[in-house]
Amino acid sequence: MKTVGVAAAAASMAALAGTYRVSFGSRSQLFGAFPYAGPAGDPAAPVVALTFDDGPNEPWTSRLLDTLADREVPATFFQVGRCAERYPDTTRRVLAEGHVLGNHSLSHSFSRYLSQPDQRAEIAGGAEVLRTISGVTPALYRPPWLCHWPWVLRSVAAAESAVVSGTFAHPLEVVQPAAARLTAGAVRRTRPGGMLILHDGREARGGPRAATVASVGPLIDRLRGRGYRFTTVDRLLGLIPYR
Ligand SMILES: [Zn+2]
Repeated sequence: MKTVGVAAAAASMAALAGTYRVSFGSRSQLFGAFPYAGPAGDPAAPVVALTFDDGPNEPWTSRLLDTLADREVPATFFQVGRCAERYPDTTRRVLAEGHVLGNHSLSHSFSRYLSQPDQRAEIAGGAEVLRTISGVTPALYRPPWLCHWPWVLRSVAAAESAVVSGTFAHPLEVVQPAAARLTAGAVRRTRPGGMLILHDGREARGGPRAATVASVGPLIDRLRGRGYRFTTVDRLLGLIPYR
């Protein structure tokens, strides 16, 4: 009897997990929810997605790409159109090295989020600049400041894109505290199926990102020490990355 009870409990848990996965990957989620994580998956082999916003921004993005290449880690870059115009070769390198390119608006302008058609133009303009430079049209959109007002979500859906949230790796990253602090904070905030948000730029302005870049190698090493494998946002969420 006891064995039957355990089996039934295991079956219902598996069904719950299955329901979670199915609902997470469904189209309805694309048009309403704001996914900050994917399925937790196998506890013995947890996955996490490293994501980098507000680039490209040199020389920091290239140094970051060197670190990722050294450790053979794929990542997802949510780039700003105006930054990609400044460093188009870096945007192309992101793709050439097997990373995923996402859209993070045209100009990262807060005021353009307050009204239409400006807000829609931020989404379409970012996608168009990235397409012109890279040849692919990103279908993953991370709104600046993770702004997910209803009209933003509707505009993303209308642009045949999926909105992506995540977990900030460290609340003070913007002011670049010591790399060791960034690493420790990011490790603490990592959960199986999570999408960690770091920044290789600052909005559309660029600026130094030495601490962020220096934090990433040790972060990868420490997460690997805990059994983590690295994936990209599209694979984690079961989405198609490009239109
Ligand atoms: Zn941003």
